[in-house]
Amino acid sequence: MSDDLSTRLIHHAYKPPEGFEAVAPGVHKASTVFFPNVQALRTTDWKDKSGYTYGLHGTPTTFTLEERIATIEGGHHCVLAPSGLAAVSLVDMALLRQGEEVLIPHNAYGPGKSFASVELAAWGITHRYFDAMDPADLARKIGPATRLVWLEAPGSVTLEFPDIPALVECVRQANAARQSARPIVTALDNTWGAGIAFQPFDLGVDISVQALTKYPSGGADVLMGSVVTRDLTLHRQVLLTHMRLGLNIGVNDAELVLRGLSSMQLRYHAQDASTRELAAWMGQQPGVVQVLHPALPGSPGHDTWRRDATAAACLFSAVFDATIPQARIDAFCDRLCLFKLGWSWAGPISLCAPYDIGPSRTQGWPHAGGLVRFAVGLESVHDLRADLAQALVALNT
Ligand SMILES: *Cc1c(COP(=O)(O)O)cnc(C)c1O
Repeated sequence: MSDDLSTRLIHHAYKPPEGFEAVAPGVHKASTVFFPNVQALRTTDWKDKSGYTYGLHGTPTTFTLEERIATIEGGHHCVLAPSGLAAVSLVDMALLRQGEEVLIPHNAYGPGKSFASVELAAWGITHRYFDAMDPADLARKIGPATRLVWLEAPGSVTLEFPDIPALVECVRQANAARQSARPIVTALDNTWGAGIAFQPFDLGVDISVQALTKYPSGGADVLMGSVVTRDLTLHRQVLLTHMRLGLNIGVNDAELVLRGLSSMQLRYHAQDASTRELAAWMGQQPGVVQVLHPALPGSPGHDTWRRDATAAACLFSAVFDATIPQARIDAFCDRLCLFKLGWSWAGPISLCAPYDIGPSRTQGWPHAGGLVRFAVGLESVHDLRADLAQALVALNT
């Protein structure tokens, strides 16, 4: 061994004892991983998780997280992306080719629509919106170029709960009639369900995407996404596009999500209970014409939610009377103390944000009044209700 300190510091003789086992999985960081010999360098395969070749292609930490996310959703394979939105656009890029078409629910997550209307359009891939609450509308819109159908349960912000089995059945029938080598694939944005409210593959979808940013992280401090599949061919297609794009997630972020997973089920159900209580209460307040939450009778898709789901996430939206000017709705939001103004959800702190639904909808939206979406955190539900009550004064004066 060299006498030069710079070499000795790096090639040091000490090896820690083997057998360190603890509750948390180890955090392994690497761009480079060593191969024992040239033969191994040439033949090691990372795609089936039988070996390690490069940090970008998996570490023990990211493989562990992938396996756990796949298990929670009842799938077999998982690919991790740097954000939920990156997971959505990864699926688009992996599956769609020039001349093909993607169908998107009218109430889907907005930035995913933007990717279709700008990047996909520029690459010669068309998109159309369908009414997620009307399977006949999807059946009508499936055409010879359709290759991918997005689903989301419930819709973003407006929270209509669709009949996923019926929508999947439309696609299955179109595939049976078409007998193409490139069948239509269904991809569900399952961020809301998180693998807890329902099992996405039992409802028939081919791909389940999540923003791990939300429940799996739980801390409002990580951005990450996942693409889970049961079918190996589909998984490989997503995995290889992911590889060619060079998408990576930081292992410290993977560690945070692994840490969040242990409490996810408890958090989901606790936030569910608080949210239902606040949503029901909000529906009785003057100036509120409707509260949107799949577990509330009268909310769009409530019966389907009861049939297909056993829990609900921490979101509800309040639609206000059309006579209440937006300025007073804004004043209500500004007056809230425990509810912070912010995007995202499923973290410890409650959030709210006013939305203008009209322009983002291609199909009819029945309300003329303003809408505020609430994301309920882990605070005492009693305190949250008091906060809403004191802020509502701004709405009605
Ligand atoms: C938040 C969210 C996303 C995007 O996740 P990011 O990690 O913030 O990019 C996608 N879909 C749904 C339904 C979401 O709520």
